[in-house]
Amino acid sequence: MFEDRNKKRTELKELGEFGLINHLTKNIKPKNDQTLMGIGDDCAVIDKGDYVTLVTTDNLIEGIHFDLTYAPLKHLGYKAAVVNFSDIIAMNGTPKQMTIGISVSNRFSVEALEEIYSGILLACERYNVDLVGGDTTSSPSGLFISITAIGEAKKEAVTYRSGAKEGDLVCVSGTVGGAYAGLLLLEREKREFQANPNMQPDLSGFDYVLERQLKPEARKDIVEKLAELNIKPTSMIDVSDGVASEVLHICTRSKVGCNIYEDKLPIDHTTIQVADEFNIAATVTALSGGEDYELLFTIGQDDYEKIKDLKEITVIGHITDLKSSANLVATDGVVAPLTAQGWDAWLNKEPEQKKQE
Ligand code: ADP
Ligand code: MG
Repeated sequence: MFEDRNKKRTELKELGEFGLINHLTKNIKPKNDQTLMGIGDDCAVIDKGDYVTLVTTDNLIEGIHFDLTYAPLKHLGYKAAVVNFSDIIAMNGTPKQMTIGISVSNRFSVEALEEIYSGILLACERYNVDLVGGDTTSSPSGLFISITAIGEAKKEAVTYRSGAKEGDLVCVSGTVGGAYAGLLLLEREKREFQANPNMQPDLSGFDYVLERQLKPEARKDIVEKLAELNIKPTSMIDVSDGVASEVLHICTRSKVGCNIYEDKLPIDHTTIQVADEFNIAATVTALSGGEDYELLFTIGQDDYEKIKDLKEITVIGHITDLKSSANLVATDGVVAPLTAQGWDAWLNKEPEQKKQE
């Protein structure tokens, strides 16, 4: 409509998701002193004196982020809320309020939307968050959910992606790769069901990875544990796009390098079993899968003693200087540059090579 026919047209896939965000926002500078952090972290950070307000938005789009053939509506609502809480928690904050935008086609019934809301409200109940507003519109087809979460933290407690220092330890909570293993199984069941609708899916024994995909939790318990132990991570991010992508975000923002050790990645045995079935290395599910919503963070070496016996926290590497760049040390000792193969909306879910900026 407004496009100048003589102007060069650049395809979205030439930039990819992170390239596009960077391209559109690179000249944006905060005008208000209260804007302590604008674009570039898990949340925006707004100065409120001794405290800060944290703000984050995530969209979930049918056909891109979820597939209603296998995602129950209640789980979908729960996940839509929790992935936003996860970004607040990744700043070492507490989620407090949220607003929700829903666009829906007449393919959906009132009862379907009630199901989604029951999931959203369950998440609000469990994480002690108030749903304080939103917007509702029709959509030509499909379902779009956009949630904005608002949280709070003490100013000195906020953890940015930019604080990692040479010598720090790189830690991850829980296990990684499971959500992607769950997705692989669900996508396979869907293909088999489409080929033969009489087929009964047999997913028994895979509950762990299915739950990781369909009903993730944000690791509020981990930031509470760290506070209890008097540990303030030097940097932190949540694992939405895969460990490799998140480590590279921390390295880029902190202007450091790192060594990540393949054999240290905490991968559950069900994930390994699924990876074997699909003939992919389990490491790939952890590094490139994403959606685990675990916390990836760095701590000073002095804090190692306090976490070394905690089952829920694993040290997977350490921070080096910028010159050394970000590396993966494979189980056989071979060192290679760490690259992130995140999912990309414009590449029809083809993995894309993303290198450190
Ligand atoms: P996360 O994975 O933690 O949700 P993203 O990779 O989605 O973070 O976003 C990275 C940063 O870019 C965040 O600060 C986010 O607010 C910002 N961002 C994403 N999309 C846009 C946009 N369209 N316009 C402005 N800022 C954006
Ligand atoms: Mg995040």
